[in-house]
Amino acid sequence: MAADRRAERQAALRAALADEGLDGLLVTHLPNVRYLTGFTGSAALLLVHAQGSVLVTDFRYAVQAPEEAGTAALVEVDQKSVWERLGRVLGALAPGALGIESHAVTVKDAERIGGLTRSRVVPVADLVERLRTVKSPEEVAAIRAAAALAHEALDEVLPSIRVGQTEREIAAALEAALRRRGSEWHPFPTIVASGPRSALPHARTSARPVGRGEWLLLDFGAQVDGYCADLTRTVVVGAAADDRQRAMYELVRCAQVRALQHLRPGMAGREGDALARDVIAGRGFGDAFGHSLGHGLGLEVHEAPRLAPTSDAPVPAGAVVTVEPGVYFPGWGGVRLEDDLYLGADGPELLSNGRTELVELV
Ligand code: ZN
Ligand code: ZN
Repeated sequence: MAADRRAERQAALRAALADEGLDGLLVTHLPNVRYLTGFTGSAALLLVHAQGSVLVTDFRYAVQAPEEAGTAALVEVDQKSVWERLGRVLGALAPGALGIESHAVTVKDAERIGGLTRSRVVPVADLVERLRTVKSPEEVAAIRAAAALAHEALDEVLPSIRVGQTEREIAAALEAALRRRGSEWHPFPTIVASGPRSALPHARTSARPVGRGEWLLLDFGAQVDGYCADLTRTVVVGAAADDRQRAMYELVRCAQVRALQHLRPGMAGREGDALARDVIAGRGFGDAFGHSLGHGLGLEVHEAPRLAPTSDAPVPAGAVVTVEPGVYFPGWGGVRLEDDLYLGADGPELLSNGRTELVELV
């Protein structure tokens, strides 16, 4: 049984609320609700206040919500309207200043909340997200397990890939292998991009068949205990790589190795990004690397911190990030390699396998 961190997470949030001069926070972003209470349902209004936490949900979760939340929150199930019920809860507690999650609340819901309470409603950003950037050993273990099963699924599928198979057929085989090995869900739409389509960094998997000697880029995830892994491998199908393919692949690989070896907590996001970008730009291909180096991983597949040229924020010790340099040439194709790295206080630790030697499926 893994350690139950919910009470300490809520205590840390209460301290953050006090720093902001808030008497409570209405948590509506579902990954934050899960982080604080364990509740995984799709309808949740969680009020965290100085004395406790109240989770308001609807009839569909009457059994599940108390089971999952346990002692982490008092659960109130409303048959008619979760908003009316929230209004009654707020009326009884009457917090002076109530925070709402500005990045997660719609304008319509913000108006609705304003109408439910006489409290001062204060939009705040990322209070729970900031806590989530620092991972506990259990969270790191879940991401490691997700990465391990993702690698196993890829190892199973790669030998079966043939020239003429469509991207969707390959994605279907990969997704089936991921699910069979225990992935709870695909944390994002699987990207399988062949030939020139591999130059689209966020390609939509299509009906295009992969041709001989072409790139095949696979960007895919797995989820264990709610925690996501995110991996990318780029392989050559049906032939040995040509000189240009080999050169571009080795360039991306060098850039990734440099970042994986030298990333440290405390660096600004842009310094981390530069570790890989300088390698690619130094060879004159800076314009071909048009996205940022990486992003945080956890209950969400894109979360803080960011490794990006525009990010001055330091990467906290305990963060898990992706390291995913790439180069993209319209009409020719692209190469991306992505691994997942834990930035522990004792040094970085790879959670994925980091095995990136060029694979030629011949
Ligand atoms: Zn990815
Ligand atoms: Zn990613």
